[in-house]
Amino acid sequence: MVIIVKQHTSPDELRQVIQPLEWLGLEVSVTQGIGHTVLGLLGDVSCVDVERFLSLPQVETVMEVPEPYKKANRKFHPQDTAVQVGGAHIGGGGFSVIAGPCSVESPGQVTEIARQVQQAGASFLRGGAFKPRTSPYAFQGMGEQALEWLEEAKAVTGLPIVSELTNPKYCDCFEEKVDVIQIGARNMQNFDLLREVGKMSKPVLLKRGLSNTYEEWILSAEYILAQGNEQVILCERGIRTMESYTRNTLDISAVPAIRKMSHLPVVVDPSHACGKSWMVEPLALAAAAVGADGLMVEVHNDPAHAKCDGQQSLTPMQFREMMEKVNHVVEAIGKRGTVGRITRLEPRKEGNGCLKKCL
Ligand code: PEP
Ligand code: MN
Repeated sequence: MVIIVKQHTSPDELRQVIQPLEWLGLEVSVTQGIGHTVLGLLGDVSCVDVERFLSLPQVETVMEVPEPYKKANRKFHPQDTAVQVGGAHIGGGGFSVIAGPCSVESPGQVTEIARQVQQAGASFLRGGAFKPRTSPYAFQGMGEQALEWLEEAKAVTGLPIVSELTNPKYCDCFEEKVDVIQIGARNMQNFDLLREVGKMSKPVLLKRGLSNTYEEWILSAEYILAQGNEQVILCERGIRTMESYTRNTLDISAVPAIRKMSHLPVVVDPSHACGKSWMVEPLALAAAAVGADGLMVEVHNDPAHAKCDGQQSLTPMQFREMMEKVNHVVEAIGKRGTVGRITRLEPRKEGNGCLKKCL
């Protein structure tokens, strides 16, 4: 249930509405809307005497919230949430791009890619240290040392780090070294893990599960919010359908649907959605056109020899070309362009061929 309180209500008058609700044992989340204040009620609302609240002069209206997700519900929080990460943000009207290798392989590799994606306009660096692989025999990631290599790349570029957490035993380490905690598709309904990241102070990027509905996905976000961590970013990364040509099927409808159902930012990962590098750009453009708050894209300096997901990774040059087109779409729909700006590349002696071709 939400209670909409009129504009220009004094703090005392607001208290008069909130206090009796708290006496009923309800948790009241207070959000400032445009021209009104929204009180979102959590708990057993069947005891609320709706008529009594409607009769209060400061109350504009009372609305039921039938959906099982509450804090993540747009009815609780009418404005878009912008998740702040240092000086950067995701959501709230801009368009932010997270880019980097599927998996961190060496300090040199990740720092080089970080430089290149930054020059192309990315504002976050992604890189997997712990890889949740379908096969137990596949490369499982470089583990904790990879987090240190990501920190080195951050020291050089300043790009905040996004990396996947798979096990609650690494929460302290991630709290210290990582800026945005990624929860992967395979762990979307790992409720113990969700509760643990809900206690952390870092923003969480929650990927949609392989076969999960919008409601299940938002309910997973609710697990995090319910623990007090309200900085959640949703990431559509394709779902399993009968089509086998692509790795998954990008559900582009998820973007407008989630934006209607929730105030949380939603970004799109075209790389895992299609599994083919040549298809990443058109899907990224579609995501920008449909109103996503940003992208997560896999970029590798040597995709043919990548330890993980090379077939869907863009080269830095391809990423740069994609970013230029994405920026046109972002501007065409009236949004601010990528938070990072595309900088002109200077020829570097040790630079690879693709960078030189780009000039
Ligand atoms: C990843 O981002 O590298 C990854 C494993 O993604 P997903 O959880 O979407 O499969
Ligand atoms: Mn990957």
